[in-house]
Amino acid sequence: MSALITLANGFFATYRVQRQLLIDSTLDANRLYAAKLASTTEIFFDTTQRQLAYSAALLAKGFGDDAFLRAETRRLLLQTNTFNSVAVVNANGVVLATSPETIRMKGRQLTTPGALQALQDRQARISEPYISAAGNLVIFVSAPIRDDAGSYLGYVGGAIYLRQKGILNQLLGQDYHDAGANTFVVDRDKHILYHQNPARIGQSLKQGPIGDAIESLGNGSVREDTPSGVNSLVGYASVPTAGWVIVTVRTTDNTLLSLQGLMVKVLHQITPLTLLTLLAVWLLSRLISQPLGLLARSANDMDRVGISDDIERIPSWYFEVAQLKRAMLLGISLLQNKIGKLRTEAQTDLLTGLFNRRGLSFALEYCRAGKQDLAVVALDIDRFKRVNDTYGHHVGDEVIRLLAQQLRAGSRDGDILCRNGGEEFLMLLPGTDGETAREIAERLRERVAATTFPVVERITISLGVALWTPAMGEIDRALKSADEALYRAKKQGRDQVVMA
Ligand code: GH3
Ligand code: MG
Ligand code: MG
Repeated sequence: MSALITLANGFFATYRVQRQLLIDSTLDANRLYAAKLASTTEIFFDTTQRQLAYSAALLAKGFGDDAFLRAETRRLLLQTNTFNSVAVVNANGVVLATSPETIRMKGRQLTTPGALQALQDRQARISEPYISAAGNLVIFVSAPIRDDAGSYLGYVGGAIYLRQKGILNQLLGQDYHDAGANTFVVDRDKHILYHQNPARIGQSLKQGPIGDAIESLGNGSVREDTPSGVNSLVGYASVPTAGWVIVTVRTTDNTLLSLQGLMVKVLHQITPLTLLTLLAVWLLSRLISQPLGLLARSANDMDRVGISDDIERIPSWYFEVAQLKRAMLLGISLLQNKIGKLRTEAQTDLLTGLFNRRGLSFALEYCRAGKQDLAVVALDIDRFKRVNDTYGHHVGDEVIRLLAQQLRAGSRDGDILCRNGGEEFLMLLPGTDGETAREIAERLRERVAATTFPVVERITISLGVALWTPAMGEIDRALKSADEALYRAKKQGRDQVVMA
């Protein structure tokens, strides 16, 4: 998950940074483009005004010559392709000459706002856009005509149509980058003078950041968020001579189109490595956690037989697991030793070191499972009460202990020896037939009778012998028979062996 989150975060950060970069560079590009157009337009107006001023000086000299005036307007119209129409007007506002002559204005008094303002100002000027006498949306560029004495004769001016194909279309209409960007021109009153969509020419610009920027008549860029949710990246630059502002707009969505493609590419590039990384992370974490998991499961199961072998098999390829494994194995071995010791102690008679009754019951179970013939010898010390009474309990205990030693000395490895309580013993002799059992019992009796015990010196024992085969079922019956045989031995005078 961390790896995935880290990668996703990296991807998202890349997206954010690229997005900001793209927006910033688009804002910059728009600003620069608007500035470039503004400077070109400024140069255009400057050139146009110089041209008119020069023409005005010429016209002043030949002001009375109609043919000259006509020729000059013709020259202005045709030489530079700047104007859609040119006129020379006298100080009363009457048209003296026009070109092209098809507009038939000669001799008429001009009343359009551009003409009236030119008369009023008597200065070189670029008019606000207005609807011309011929019904076109135009701007009017004019220069005053003065004679050598400086008195005002009239003006020469050219109309530039805003909606028709003309010099402004050529200047501003170049396609910028691609279809995503839009360039338009507004005057200081926020009327749209030029727009790629002709229907918008003449309309007023709505209030907003662009409008505010226009009022400042500066250069710059701004992000505009319209109420309809379309975000625009706007660059603008002013044309001071005309009081115009050139605006280049590109929607944010359009700008970010290329980013989406870019991010898809990034995704394509990082996906294989990401998957590989995730796989590696998964494999490694599994490799690390697996032995820990196995150890944890084993810890729940410490008393199971064979757990040590299972733990031994857990791969411990790194130090920490190796140490944990070692500690667990050590713990288990200590635990099992302890349990083994406790079990042995619980089954052993403290005085003699032989099995006690609990040990005997385990031994009987073991014999029954072994399915082997068994000789049972029951053994009791004769007149032992007397030993206790005469010499004391501790001497009696010592006799019991030494007798147990004798039993052990006279038995084989597979024989099971048990102190059955007090001074009574039981011997289970696997794989022993009746005759052999009698011989063993007899030999034991003789040896005890011949042994010199400390303090008491002589003791005798009585023994009862019985046989058990798996076919007889419970061993208890054989024990009972041996006991009965012992009882008979006591009855018949003690210090003897009796077969059941
Ligand atoms: P018998 O020949 O009939 O067996 O006579 P006995 O005196 O041995 O009689 P019995 O077996 O009935 O008596 C057992 C005596 O053994 C009773 C008790 O004083 C003594 N005894 C039993 N357990 C112990 C023991 O752990 N230590 C000692 N010192 N004496 C014990
Ligand atoms: Mg007894
Ligand atoms: Mg006895």
